[in-house]
Amino acid sequence: MSFLFAPQPQAVLPIDGLVNTYFPIHRVYGIARNYSNEKVVSKEKGSPILFQKPADAVIYAPEGETLQLAFPMSTENLQHEIELVVAIGKAGKNIPVEEAMQYVWGYAVGLDLNRRDLFINGHPWDAVKGFDESAPMSALKPISRVPDNEPMALWLYVNNEKRQEGSTGQMIFTVPEIISVLSSLYELKPGDLIMTGTPAGIGKIDRGDILEGGVQGVGVIKVKFGE
Ligand code: MN
Repeated sequence: MSFLFAPQPQAVLPIDGLVNTYFPIHRVYGIARNYSNEKVVSKEKGSPILFQKPADAVIYAPEGETLQLAFPMSTENLQHEIELVVAIGKAGKNIPVEEAMQYVWGYAVGLDLNRRDLFINGHPWDAVKGFDESAPMSALKPISRVPDNEPMALWLYVNNEKRQEGSTGQMIFTVPEIISVLSSLYELKPGDLIMTGTPAGIGKIDRGDILEGGVQGVGVIKVKFGE
């Protein structure tokens, strides 16, 4: 077999503490509006709001460095969402909630970037969510090396000013519940990533802004946008 032209490179994320071994990305799923501002999360959940980003929308932000990103095309209202990213390590369909954590390989910190001004009456989601370099992420950390300290704190600073702060304990759909629901709609595969939603404080990013965010026990990322 030969290709008409060279295939694009496999999208990957590095693994924290491992040299030359990469996590090959299959799909990137996302959950929208998954954090409650209430201390007690309502059990009246309905259905989660799902979307996907292309695998190659993921761009690696090495810890201790500042990832330089061009300001995205066709937006004047770019917005930030700091998120816990779940990495799936084995295939499964119709996974029960009680078994879902067995499918989690590890975690990363992610920024779900949105071109919010491309929503017109709530549509379309693709151009808002799934553009190039719309998912900066840290290296993945195997779940065995993430401290067993759930719920985990999340935070995001823009130009050293705190914008987002929350805890994974505010998730409306928990990580096992998200895996269970997703696996009833799609066969999950090793290499899938799930962006699990963001706490309060989302806001606009301006040209030249520096974003620094993290998830407790998982990592931190730092991104600077072009002028
Ligand atoms: Mn999001």
